[in-house]
Amino acid sequence: MSADEKNAIIQIQNLKTWFLVTKGAFKKVVGYVKAVDGVSLKVYKGEALGIVGESGCGKSTLGKTIMLLEKPTGGKILYNDNGTFKDVTQFNKQETFAFRKKVQMVFQDPYSALNPQKKIYTSFEEPLKVHGVKTQEEREAAMQKVLKMVNIQPEYLMRYPHQFSGGQRQRLCIARALVVKPDVLICDEPVSALDVSIQAQVLNLMKDIQKELHLTYLFIAHDLSVVQYMSDRIVVMYLGKIVEIADSKSLYDDPLHPYTRALLSAIPVPDIHNHKKRIVLEGETPSPIRKPSGCAFHSRCPNRMEICKTVDPALLHRGQNGHMVACHLYDDKVEGKSAVKMDGKGSALEERADSDEKY
Ligand code: SF4
Repeated sequence: MSADEKNAIIQIQNLKTWFLVTKGAFKKVVGYVKAVDGVSLKVYKGEALGIVGESGCGKSTLGKTIMLLEKPTGGKILYNDNGTFKDVTQFNKQETFAFRKKVQMVFQDPYSALNPQKKIYTSFEEPLKVHGVKTQEEREAAMQKVLKMVNIQPEYLMRYPHQFSGGQRQRLCIARALVVKPDVLICDEPVSALDVSIQAQVLNLMKDIQKELHLTYLFIAHDLSVVQYMSDRIVVMYLGKIVEIADSKSLYDDPLHPYTRALLSAIPVPDIHNHKKRIVLEGETPSPIRKPSGCAFHSRCPNRMEICKTVDPALLHRGQNGHMVACHLYDDKVEGKSAVKMDGKGSALEERADSDEKY
């Protein structure tokens, strides 16, 4: 096993999660929604890996598939179990149960994530019971420990979810995920349902907890500022595929993919002297049922070339620190590329060298 593999806790290889599209009384299959379509990725121990993209890009489905809440259509999810990689897609019921203790999920909506009819004590005790914490003393000690981490008083365990504010509920959801001592936390838009003032509290808390427990985070969000704040590395997804991966600084300072540049140009800058050029993409995201041929982004890309309409670009290393991008603009073998210059603030100053086509 290479040093790189040793440091990885999860390796995803060509993962696909497709959903059937049926029609009529006999449910004739007329197509597939390719929510995750050939994703390969390594998640390293102790890192916070951000996953960003527009709604419908497949980021939440990717998280749910890793948790085995969605059944993958193809590919592998390898989990580093004490130095041995095991394919979790092949796990039996018992192995899946053990795996779910190590990988926990925090959902977007803290209102529906907690059972309104059960006291917090019961919601916390159940996972401890099913994962084999036998005595009540041990269970209560575990509950008190995680509640302390999220700054909730232990006596609140006897309350019902409706007696808490949104921020408190999300902190309780984080505590419930932590109570079984996972290695990986998949956070699916954990702060997007909260007020902005509460978001910062919860994000800081999550950062502190990650440091204290040496957790690995998969942080899924559409808010680029939140992802930048939380993540060591960032994955950008578009229509079920990864289009760019880089460490947080490289991605924000020097985005390569035209889609990433457009996303980053939309982040508001709190500085009246810093006029960042906004890149406005035309049109809607195409349907994941009928994806465009070639590069799926070509129908909206201001830099598209002839080759983009037919050839899907591979995700290749560009630059340093593992910066990868899937775009023909950076393929040395492709001729007639658009000239792409950066203004040093992450904004693209683009000139098409080979065409005056308007987009
Ligand atoms: Fe744009 Fe072509 Fe790059 Fe796709 S491959 S992002 S269409 S330039």
